[in-house]
Amino acid sequence: MGLCVGGLFLSANIALVLADFSASPFDGAPRDEEGRFTNPSGELVHGTLEVRLPFMLRRMGTYFRSGTDAPERVANDGVFLRENAQQGVPTVTWIGHATLLVQMGGVSFLTDPTWSNRPSPVPLLGPKRFVKPGMAIADLPPIDFVVISHNHYDHLDLPTLRELAKRDANTKFYVPLGNGDLLRKADITGVYELDWGQTVNFGSIVIHCLPARHWSKRSINDDNKSLWSSWAITGEEKRFYFSGDTGYFPGFEDIGNKLGPFDLVAVPIGAYEPVAMMRESHMNPEEAIAAALDLQAKKAIAIHYGTFDLSDEPLAEPPKRFLAAAKSSALGGSAAWIVKVGETRTF
Ligand code: ZN
Ligand code: ZN
Repeated sequence: MGLCVGGLFLSANIALVLADFSASPFDGAPRDEEGRFTNPSGELVHGTLEVRLPFMLRRMGTYFRSGTDAPERVANDGVFLRENAQQGVPTVTWIGHATLLVQMGGVSFLTDPTWSNRPSPVPLLGPKRFVKPGMAIADLPPIDFVVISHNHYDHLDLPTLRELAKRDANTKFYVPLGNGDLLRKADITGVYELDWGQTVNFGSIVIHCLPARHWSKRSINDDNKSLWSSWAITGEEKRFYFSGDTGYFPGFEDIGNKLGPFDLVAVPIGAYEPVAMMRESHMNPEEAIAAALDLQAKKAIAIHYGTFDLSDEPLAEPPKRFLAAAKSSALGGSAAWIVKVGETRTF
């Protein structure tokens, strides 16, 4: 434990070199007396054993669950996106799950890049991928940086990160506090750890590490030893927000007030059943629309649904509920984007 806490302090010092934390309008992430990270609202509820055990068994039982109703896919050859790397038209491409390729202000970056088929400590038992990634890694434009929200296997996929690092030694990897060692041990360089409220400049772009309501776990006894976060990427022309995995929380309104309005926000709309287990750490589609409104979003793109077999809700349900909620809200139906895997839109 002492070593671990030491590691976290060391990480914090590295991040402080990068950013002026004292000037941040956001508080750093709170920790408990053991040094583990917590949420400002306290520890989250993940359901009782009576809920979780049958859920685990059901997940094993869905080994052959069909992908009918999974999102449509269009193969993206990346030609336009590679040319656009210099031209700088703001684009977003859904690779699948929480993985987006975003281009704005002349940079190209990825959120939570996950190309694995069954991201898991035990790949044979991991959640099945229903839809192939929308682009091959080889077809991506040069990636300036990657932002990672937390260490769950569907978001921090080491085989993908290793491949990206090998492909381009200049790619930078921004992670919340306590996640750096995992990458560095996998021979990935250019890794920077940030606390909530810290920022890094990348040319004229500012990368903000921001709060989220979630948790972390990668192995038996590492619960909440590393931090989770959302991210804002703000440039001279466009402002983009990526919520990572999160429950609905007052932080959205705070972030909207301090950094909004956003031209585009990426919000998760899946993994909300069983409700007793997911409610505090994931949003349902209606909450995702409420979050977009709190963030003062002009447009919201739905992510984190339909790609992996992670939860109990029917595959077709999240996008339907997301669009219905948007239509009856101030956001409006046309500002709520359900896109195909592999589809590119300008924003
Ligand atoms: Zn998660
Ligand atoms: Zn997730």
